[in-house]
Amino acid sequence: MNLELRSDTFTKPTPAMLEAMFSAVVGDDVFDDDPTVKALEHKAATMFGYEAGLFCASGTMTNQIAINVHVRQGDEVICDALSHIYLYEGGGIAANSMASVNLLQGNRGRLTASQIREAIQPDNFHHPISRLVSLENTVNKGGGCYYELDEIQQIKQVCIENNIPLHLDGARIFNALVATQESPLLYGKVFDSMSICLSKGLGTPIGSLLLGTSTFIKQARRVRKRLGGGWRQAGYLAAAGIYALDNHTDRLKEDHTRAKTIGEIMEQLPEVEEIYPVDTNIVIARLNESILASDYVQQLLEKGIKASPFGKHLVRFVTHLDFTDEHLEEFRKLMR
Ligand SMILES: *Cc1c(COP(=O)(O)O)cnc(C)c1O
Repeated sequence: MNLELRSDTFTKPTPAMLEAMFSAVVGDDVFDDDPTVKALEHKAATMFGYEAGLFCASGTMTNQIAINVHVRQGDEVICDALSHIYLYEGGGIAANSMASVNLLQGNRGRLTASQIREAIQPDNFHHPISRLVSLENTVNKGGGCYYELDEIQQIKQVCIENNIPLHLDGARIFNALVATQESPLLYGKVFDSMSICLSKGLGTPIGSLLLGTSTFIKQARRVRKRLGGGWRQAGYLAAAGIYALDNHTDRLKEDHTRAKTIGEIMEQLPEVEEIYPVDTNIVIARLNESILASDYVQQLLEKGIKASPFGKHLVRFVTHLDFTDEHLEEFRKLMR
């Protein structure tokens, strides 16, 4: 049995999702003529209360497009030091938008309103202009933790007072929504733009969406084209996205339950110093100082368990659509 816990991106389309893809009605999306892409963009935008959406190949692309539309060269983006936009997008903030970052140290990747208030640069030509605040929810590097909506609303207030837009990297926003039982509309209200991923917990083979006002998405569409992200019969992929939004959001709670169990199993092991609180579908184990994560991951692999090294002594496990109760029992047996 293959215990795939490296990432929730390893999922394969289910037979029903493939069926939806096969039967999609498609057209040329660069000509704005693919009805299934339009339907997906409309569906996601409406779900979060936005005017428009833009279907893209990856979450890196949706984040980088959003940053590019929001900022100008020499500006800065305020974000946590653990942010995906900073750590895992190939230096794109600098390379694509010629902007810098104002990195803050949050709590497992989560910032507070007062931290952001202090970080915003005064209006003085010595400083870069603080042009965008970007949050991540759930936080990947923080072990899948999520924000309290109240904190986000306070952050939004700081942004409004300073006339700075607020972006969300919501690659795993559905994990946060399922965990908190909050309405997506409340999130759409506070973020000026939002990136959501369909290829993580929702289980599509590819795809992310950028959401915002019609004016914002019109600009975003131009940037996507400039980056080479215009695509043709993307409706086959969009059909997977529509299927996932209809069928794969509520079940995320199963992933959260299984992740909790993995945390409980790992916690018993002598080589594990600490398990980060398991809030959603990500488990981070901090190993004994004498054990390197890379060595440990190799040992797990020999048992048939795939996990990711996530720092010198940190190992990450991520549950998902293709990790079942059967897999979980096998995991328990192997770790005994
Ligand atoms: C996966 C992920 C993204 C997007 O990654 P892509 O591989 O480019 O789709 C963005 N933000 C976070 C937090 C992620 O985990």
